[in-house]
Amino acid sequence: MAGTLTMKFGGTSVGDAAAIRRTAGIVRQVLAGQAEQAAVVVSAMRGVTDALLGGAQAAAQGDPERARHLAEDLGRRHGQAASALLEEEDLECLIPTLDNLLDGYVRLCESIAVLGEATPRALDHVAGLGERMNARLVAAAFRRQGLPAEAVDATDLIVTDARFQNATPDLEATRRRVEAHLRPLLEGGGLPVVTGFIGATSQGVPTTLGRGGSDYSAAILGACLDCDEVWIWTDVDGVMSADPRLVPGARSLRTLSYLEVSELAYFGARVLHPKTIRPVLERGIPIRVKNTFNPDHPGTLILPDDADHPTADRRPLKAVTAIPDISLITIEGKGMLGVPGIAARAFGAVARTGTNVLLISQASSEQSICFAVQQSQAPRVVAALEAEFERELARRDIDRVWSRDGVTIVTAVGAGMRSTPGVAGRVFSATGARGVNVLAIAQGSSECSLSLVVDGAEGEEAVRAIHALTLEAEPGEAEFETGFQNS
Ligand code: ADP
Ligand code: ASP
Ligand code: MG
Repeated sequence: MAGTLTMKFGGTSVGDAAAIRRTAGIVRQVLAGQAEQAAVVVSAMRGVTDALLGGAQAAAQGDPERARHLAEDLGRRHGQAASALLEEEDLECLIPTLDNLLDGYVRLCESIAVLGEATPRALDHVAGLGERMNARLVAAAFRRQGLPAEAVDATDLIVTDARFQNATPDLEATRRRVEAHLRPLLEGGGLPVVTGFIGATSQGVPTTLGRGGSDYSAAILGACLDCDEVWIWTDVDGVMSADPRLVPGARSLRTLSYLEVSELAYFGARVLHPKTIRPVLERGIPIRVKNTFNPDHPGTLILPDDADHPTADRRPLKAVTAIPDISLITIEGKGMLGVPGIAARAFGAVARTGTNVLLISQASSEQSICFAVQQSQAPRVVAALEAEFERELARRDIDRVWSRDGVTIVTAVGAGMRSTPGVAGRVFSATGARGVNVLAIAQGSSECSLSLVVDGAEGEEAVRAIHALTLEAEPGEAEFETGFQNS
C-alpha cells in the first residue's frame, strides 16, 4: 500500500443516491487496501451546471421565473438523494444549507434580470453552486457510510486569476493554501470532499476553471499535495479509442502518454479536461481514468511521455476524436506570395477578437492561409480580418477572406506516428475509400496527432474509417508498476 491519492468523481458518479452510495463503497475499498490517504474531488450532479447557467441566461433575457423553478427542481433533486442517504439529524443540518445556496442563486438571478445582463463574473458565481451543494451532500453521505468526510470549498484552496469562465490557477499560492488547509485534514485522518470546477481570486471572488474543469481541479490538488497518483472516476472504462457514443466498437486503452491524452482532449474527447495534464507534468504524477460503474476494470493509465516501460503502447494510431461545428477560415490571394508579415497580422487580428484558433494549415504555394475556429466565432473573425486587410483587399493582393461553416475536425492520435512512415497515407486511403473529402490537414507539432478537416456531414464516417485503423492488438496486458494495483 502506498501514500496519497486524489480521486475525482464526475457528474454521473455522484448523480443520485445510488451512485453516491456506490462511490462511497469505492472510496472505502481504496482506503482499505490501496492508499493511506485520499482527497476526493466531486462534480455537480450531472446536468446541474447546465441548468444553473440556463436559469441565469433566461434571467438576463428578462425571465427570472425560470431560475425560481429551477431552484425548486434542484432543491427537490438534492433533497431526494439526501433523504435516501441520510438520517433525520443529518438532514436538519444539510437541507437549510442547500436551501441557502439556492436562495442565493434565485436572488442573484433576480439581479441579473434587473440588469438585463449576466457578466462572466456573475455566471461563475452561478455555475459553481452545483459543486458546492454536491460536496456537502456527498460528504454527509460518506459520513453515514462510516467515512471521516468533510466538505471543503475549493474557493479556499485554488487561487486563480480573474479570467472568469476559464481561470488559470496560481500553483504556488494554491500549494500554500493546500498545505495550510488540506494537508492538516488529511494528516489528521480526515477525508476531504472538495468541490471540483471552482476556485477564487486572491481577493476571494469565485471563478471557474472552464466547463468540465473538475478533472483539472483534481490534477491541481493532486500536484499540490504531491500525490502518488490522481484517479479520475467517470462513466466509461477509461479513455477509449473513440467516443463510445459515436463508435460502438470503441475499446478502452490500457496506457496513454501525457502528450497523447492532451491531444485527444484538446481535439474533443471530453473524457478529460484538456488542461488536466499541466499541473502533474512537472512531477510526473500518473493519472488513472476508471469507471465507477465497473470499478474492477483497470481503466487507462496515463504516464509521462518518456516512460520507457516494456509494455508502453507505441502504436502509431491509438485513438480518434472529433470536434463538430467548426468553421474553416481562408485568406487567399496571389499577392500574398512571399509577402512577409501576413500571417502575423492575420493572427494578431484574430487574437484581438478573443478567438481561440484550433488548427492552422498553410498551402505550400503560400497563396492561402487557412485555420479553424468555433463556428459561433466565425462572423467576428471574418469581419476582423476584412478590416485588417482592407488595403490589400482593395488592391486585390488578397482576393478574399471567407469562412466555410459546418465542418468537423477529425484527429488521429498515437505517439508511434512520429517514427512510423506512411501513417498519413493510411489515414487518407481509409477516408478516401469511404468517399470522405478532406478540406485541410494539419499535423500537431508534437507529431503525435494528425488532424483532418472534413465536411460536417462526413465527420462521423471519417471517425469510423480512422477508427478501423486503430484496431490492432495492444502490446502486453501487464500492469505498469506505479505503486498501486487495481483490485
Ligand atoms: P464526467 O462527468 O465523469 O466528467 P464526462 O461526460 O465529462 O464525464 O466524460 C465522460 C464521457 O466522455 C463518456 O461518457 C464519453 O461519452 C465521452 N467520451 C468522448 N470521447 C471519449 C473517449 N475517447 N474515451 C472515453 N470517453 C469519451
Ligand atoms: N460541473 C462542471 C461542468 O459541468 C464541471 C465538471 O463536471 O467537471 O462543466
Ligand atoms: Mg467531465
